[in-house]
Amino acid sequence: MVKKKKRAAKKPARKAKKKAGKKKGGPAKVYLSLGSNVGDREEYIEQAIFLLEKNPEVQVIKRSANYETEPEGGAEQPPFINAAVAVITKLPPEKLLDVCQEIETALGRDREMEWGPRTIDIDILLYDDQIISEDKLQVPHPLMHERMFVLKPLKEIAPGAVHPVLEKSVEDLYEERKAEVGEKYDDELPGFKEIKGGSYDDYERW
Ligand code: ADP
Ligand code: MG
Repeated sequence: MVKKKKRAAKKPARKAKKKAGKKKGGPAKVYLSLGSNVGDREEYIEQAIFLLEKNPEVQVIKRSANYETEPEGGAEQPPFINAAVAVITKLPPEKLLDVCQEIETALGRDREMEWGPRTIDIDILLYDDQIISEDKLQVPHPLMHERMFVLKPLKEIAPGAVHPVLEKSVEDLYEERKAEVGEKYDDELPGFKEIKGGSYDDYERW
């Protein structure tokens, strides 16, 4: 009986230790957004996911469908295909950004025009519950909660993920933004519709 009591008393301490350990050395769960509006847009999205998955330190565990979306941010340009993926990685955030940028370069992205047309754009949306504000990297992505083209695919794969700054779930952020921008982003309207049914269940892993 004495033994039992001792064990029960120890339990919370062990739990706390494990949690702290996970934060430091364990793999992180990360959400990325993908966007393309040049050439074979779906193929660029597939290639980007393929190259992410090919990296031995990155495991893609979930992907959304592809969505066709109207460009935002001013410049006149063709519509995008957007998707979101969940990955597990031990790479620290800055290294993961390097990996994403290498894939952008490999897929022919040129950076001539800010917010201009691109073969592929890969952004880090959430990295566990980390908050990062460096010149090169801000996480959560500073515009994610304003962009329906980010929230819509992200909500599909991670409705319950929490934005660590706004302290709201992705689903709540999506509903809030949808209420703000009105019907423009209704699924039934052209320019914001699901164009591919490829949910993770049919997703072929490499
Ligand atoms: P955008 O994605 O805003 O259209 P770019 O893809 O050209 O623009 O990225 C511009 C810079 O944004 C990158 O060089 C990168 O250093 C920086 N950046 C800051 N935070 C992030 C993030 N969370 N994900 C990706 N890039 C980021
Ligand atoms: Mg980007």
